[in-house]
Amino acid sequence: MKLQDLGPANLQAANTLALTCMAEHYYRLEQAENAAEAMAAILQQHPHTQPQLLAGGSNVVLPQRLELVIQPAMAGIRYLGEQKGCHHYRVLAATEWDALVRHTVDRGHGGLENLALIPGHCGAAPVQNIGAYGVELGEYIHAIEGVELPTCTPFRHTREEAGFAYRDSRYKQEAGRWLITALELALPTRWQPRIDYPGLQQALAGQEPSPGRILQAVIAERRRKLPDPAETPNAGSFFKNPVVDEYHMRLLLAKHPNLPHWPSEAGHKLSAAWLIEQAGWKGKALGPAGVSSQHALVLVNHGGATADDILRLAEAIRQAVQDRFGVPLEIEPRCLA
Ligand SMILES: Cc1cc2nc3c(=O)[nH]c(=O)nc-3n(C[C@H](O)[C@H](O)[C@H](O)COP(=O)(O)OP(=O)(O)OC[C@H]3O[C@@H](n4cnc5c(N)ncnc54)[C@H](O)[C@@H]3O)c2cc1C
Repeated sequence: MKLQDLGPANLQAANTLALTCMAEHYYRLEQAENAAEAMAAILQQHPHTQPQLLAGGSNVVLPQRLELVIQPAMAGIRYLGEQKGCHHYRVLAATEWDALVRHTVDRGHGGLENLALIPGHCGAAPVQNIGAYGVELGEYIHAIEGVELPTCTPFRHTREEAGFAYRDSRYKQEAGRWLITALELALPTRWQPRIDYPGLQQALAGQEPSPGRILQAVIAERRRKLPDPAETPNAGSFFKNPVVDEYHMRLLLAKHPNLPHWPSEAGHKLSAAWLIEQAGWKGKALGPAGVSSQHALVLVNHGGATADDILRLAEAIRQAVQDRFGVPLEIEPRCLA
């Protein structure tokens, strides 16, 4: 087994916020089959260091220095066939998420089309249970495989064991304990379109919805709304949409009748973008960190920003929304340290 320490390595090009970060020790895991063995070897060489896992770097805030970074690098998609009314796929961790979506839709297997164009790798997708346009990944997970740390024992979890919730899972709650190497997805053979989101309804008006048409509508909508990290470095939505109970929803609507909200399992979900815009932060900046003028939920690096700059801006926004609406905002990306 070939294991090479590629550090010290600058991770600026490996995170979509383009934050400069030096990884003192940096390893790439090339094969899913011997990931447990490889992790054991790495941890033996760095016995007192907590490893940080990095995939596509689109949902992390990186500090200026990290001691030990491990990046799964195994990619590939395999169709396992039809079982109990579902098309099953096995996909390795470093496969681009969007490539998987297009691969399944191209084969006429619908389910993932609403999640098109989300950046990042398949292995990181369960961590925050990626979601968009009314669909969450967790619905289509059959199993998750990987290595439990620090014992370096292989695991295989069912969907129920993954603890999926809104932008959450046990892999996020217990970060550092689970290294995901592969996912098994189950896409129902009886496909149902999911086009409740008003933008999608409009885009598809008068057309028979198909996975391919929904995919194209989602791509067009996302390109229109979200700044491209290749042009303006960002990590997508920086805050989760807050959820409030019925009582607080009524109080808020009495004061702010235009506040966009929609039902969720735990109560009412509020538009964090609207709250931030109303608090006066859309398009504003604090030093080299700013709020996108295209979308108030997106924090951007205008050049040379560090994690501290980004987090200082996030805290100013959180405080402003708390003062104006009494609603706490929660940061979505993970701050590695
Ligand atoms: C422009 C833009 C738009 C976005 N839109 C959406 C959206 O619509 N919906 C949405 O949900 N998200 C969205 N995101 C966030 C992001 O794309 C997703 O969270 C994505 O799944 C992160 O994948 P990644 O490979 O970049 O992970 P990284 O950012 O590298 O890692 C994310 C987290 O997962 C951990 N991790 C990485 N790999 C593994 C592994 N193999 N095993 C265990 N833990 C691991 C990391 O330690 C880190 O905590 C967007 C981001 C951007 C920049």
